[in-house]
Amino acid sequence: MIFMNNKNSVDKKSIFKHVKCDFCNSYKYQILIKTKDYHFEKIPGEFTIVKCLGCNLVYSNPRLKSIELKRYYSNIVTYDNRPPDLRQNNRIYSPFSKEFLTYFFNYPFLKKKKKIRKLILLPKYIRFKRKWKKSYNIPSYIENGRILEVGCSYGGFLILLKKLGWIVKGLELNKEAIKFAINQLKLDVEYSSIEDFQSDDLFDIIYLQMVLEHLESPKKVLLKCFQLLKSSGKLVLTVPDFSGIELRLYKKYAYTLQLPYHLYHFTPNSIKNYLKRLNFTKIKFFHQSTTKDFIMPLTYIFRDKPNDTFIRYMLKLGKFNLIRNSLIKFLSYILTLLGKTSRMTVIAIK
Ligand SMILES: [Zn+2]
Repeated sequence: MIFMNNKNSVDKKSIFKHVKCDFCNSYKYQILIKTKDYHFEKIPGEFTIVKCLGCNLVYSNPRLKSIELKRYYSNIVTYDNRPPDLRQNNRIYSPFSKEFLTYFFNYPFLKKKKKIRKLILLPKYIRFKRKWKKSYNIPSYIENGRILEVGCSYGGFLILLKKLGWIVKGLELNKEAIKFAINQLKLDVEYSSIEDFQSDDLFDIIYLQMVLEHLESPKKVLLKCFQLLKSSGKLVLTVPDFSGIELRLYKKYAYTLQLPYHLYHFTPNSIKNYLKRLNFTKIKFFHQSTTKDFIMPLTYIFRDKPNDTFIRYMLKLGKFNLIRNSLIKFLSYILTLLGKTSRMTVIAIK
């Protein structure tokens, strides 16, 4: 196992380093949270999340050295921990979806469009608009449009976009995921970080889904994205929102913290600061949620406090599908509409 020396213990000094603020270069910070590797349970000890006193950026400090991060992403994990279930994508290619995409997202699936048909579909559009645009992240069609996904994992999202007619390119650091994307899905995926990526083509859309919080310098990454976008191109970021209600509720146990692998803990404000400095415009936020964000922290607390009867009771409740799939889902849906959950999509235009 990596991170372990031959005595089978972790030499924390050699794999961690102190850093300054990526946004304003200040070394001054205040400590916000001390937490543990509850998610993967690979590295023992406590890790610190700090807030910059210069610009309020929240980040992990000290944090894993670059070389450790690289090893970690090459060998262990990607955002999806297994190849995608492609049957899930079939929904998108159903006759209804094709119609829907043609009328409301400008896809060229139907030769003739009828105004009356669009009117009939309108209630469905109103009902599903949020899901398609903000949860599936389906973009409106651009002819010969190019899409880059940074950290594309096994390619589940890229293959969907490719089948919808986009020219797609993926970057990934996990070798197993790349192999799958290239051999099984016939996708154009490269072993490269965004910082090292060179391209003659510019892109209409760049996606970074649950990626930016893992990278060493958001400043460098966002600048690179800006350079790789066509003018009026769109950047789509999904990141955890540190100001979300799950954070307030669970604090060091919050599922989206994922120390020591998350290096940054963005809020809408800190992301906006970065994007504005690069002159991105029309910055918008949409919040998402998953029931995991409410349930997983209970298992973490339980690990620390196995005798806590309240937590044991809550965990039992959480296991009931009825509670999980109706009550928690409903509450978190309301919270997403209010922009109060701990996951967000940020869209910005060059
Ligand atoms: Zn700062």
